[in-house]
Amino acid sequence: DDVSSRILSSLPIEFCCPICEDVIVGASVLGCGCARSSFCSRCIDDRLTSQSRESLTILGTDLDTIAEGYVVVDRKDVPGSSGARGGNDSNKCQLDTCHCPSCDAAVRSPPVPCHALDVAILKCVSNLSTEDADRGRFDGEAKDGAGTADKGADSSAAAASAVRAFQIRYYARLRERRTEVLLLRERRASEEREMREECLLGALIQAEEEQRATRRRRAWSKRGPPLRSFATRDGVQRENRGLQLLGEVFIMVAAAATAAILGVRISSGASKS
Ligand SMILES: [Zn+2]
Ligand SMILES: [Zn+2]
Repeated sequence: DDVSSRILSSLPIEFCCPICEDVIVGASVLGCGCARSSFCSRCIDDRLTSQSRESLTILGTDLDTIAEGYVVVDRKDVPGSSGARGGNDSNKCQLDTCHCPSCDAAVRSPPVPCHALDVAILKCVSNLSTEDADRGRFDGEAKDGAGTADKGADSSAAAASAVRAFQIRYYARLRERRTEVLLLRERRASEEREMREECLLGALIQAEEEQRATRRRRAWSKRGPPLRSFATRDGVQRENRGLQLLGEVFIMVAAAATAAILGVRISSGASKS
């Protein structure tokens, strides 16, 4: 509302996000160097994602294709930038060169998170006083030419509650951001864990195979070298086929025996009745 925008204007302009026009939460800084190059992480990420999506739409690339599979766009085809990459995840869809939403300068590097700015903003908002709310008001009234207002007890109480409300809203947004970051971190950690487990499993399987191979080699060295006919790949295959045939014959014999026994039982049962 009006009071909160007055409080906001009493803060340094670098603390205000040019996209959402609110106090920055989770600061990210673009390298263009203009006065308004710091943003909320979420705001700038959303903006850059939509920038890259626009370029891809200009190219006539079907956005559904990007959602379905991995699409690589030819870098030189992207207008106004050095290139674009489309991933299967829309969040990964980012331009190599992005444009600052404030000054429209082309920036080659992605926005960098700035913890120091976060701390400075937190300190500044925590130390807001009723004068900050008042100062904005007096500035506004001075511009209107109305002069100074009377500093009554209820007006300063209203200013104090406005500052308090401003701080509460900021803290709530900070908490939300914190939850978001923790979730993101957790997801990344679980992805890394999965990858590590996969690597470990692969290594275990490889070790097992190597162990089996050395055991086989040892058995051969005890028995002496394998027969010449089995040494060739063809020979091994022949041996395997021989084993397979033997197995099949065994199964057939077993089946025939079972059938014979069953037949005898059934016929004996029939003769009894
Ligand atoms: Zn923002
Ligand atoms: Zn800029």
